[in-house]
Amino acid sequence: MDSEIIIPQGFPFAGNKLEEIISPDSVQKRVAEIASEISVMYQGKVPIIIGVLNGAFLFMADLVRHLDIQFEVDFLKIDSYGDGTKSTGTVRLLKDISADITGRHVVVVEDIVDTGLSLKFLKHRMEEASPKSLRFATFLYKPDVASKDISIDWAGFNIEDQFVVGYGLDLKQIYRGLPGIYAVKEEDK
Ligand code: 5GP
Repeated sequence: MDSEIIIPQGFPFAGNKLEEIISPDSVQKRVAEIASEISVMYQGKVPIIIGVLNGAFLFMADLVRHLDIQFEVDFLKIDSYGDGTKSTGTVRLLKDISADITGRHVVVVEDIVDTGLSLKFLKHRMEEASPKSLRFATFLYKPDVASKDISIDWAGFNIEDQFVVGYGLDLKQIYRGLPGIYAVKEEDK
């Protein structure tokens, strides 16, 4: 996989560059590290791992493959970005979880925490159901943007305030399959 990709004609942001900021190898190493920490934390327990669609689907899939504990999975789907590159400021619940999480250990798996609005929404939604414990893992975290009153239990990588794609993250629904993380560079526009 090239460390720089020119976005082809016919695609959003055609002619601009996707610049690799986290390599596929680093992604996989970090996911394994987080999985081993989660395995230690939940030794002898059966947590419900809840993936936030769509962006977290690859992180979630890789993460659970590394766990050496028993676990259940569920998913929910929210939207705060629409098809754009900035948060709309409101979070919509597009699909709720189906598991009963009352009294259960819950780990919510997110793709990226930007403003933290989605995380706050998810925390509120989960706490309504009174889980026994509630923790959050995010693959990426933008510390300069995120509201200071949120707490995350596991963050894969801290990144600058820039729009990124790959490893589940999209630009207008494409580029989710890239195995590393790429910044969309618009300066040539
Ligand atoms: P927040 O609610 O924390 O502002 O934003 C979280 C959601 O916005 C993420 O789950 C993701 O869908 C989207 N998002 C935030 N930053 C980025 C980014 O750099 N790239 C992409 N593709 N999505 C992002």
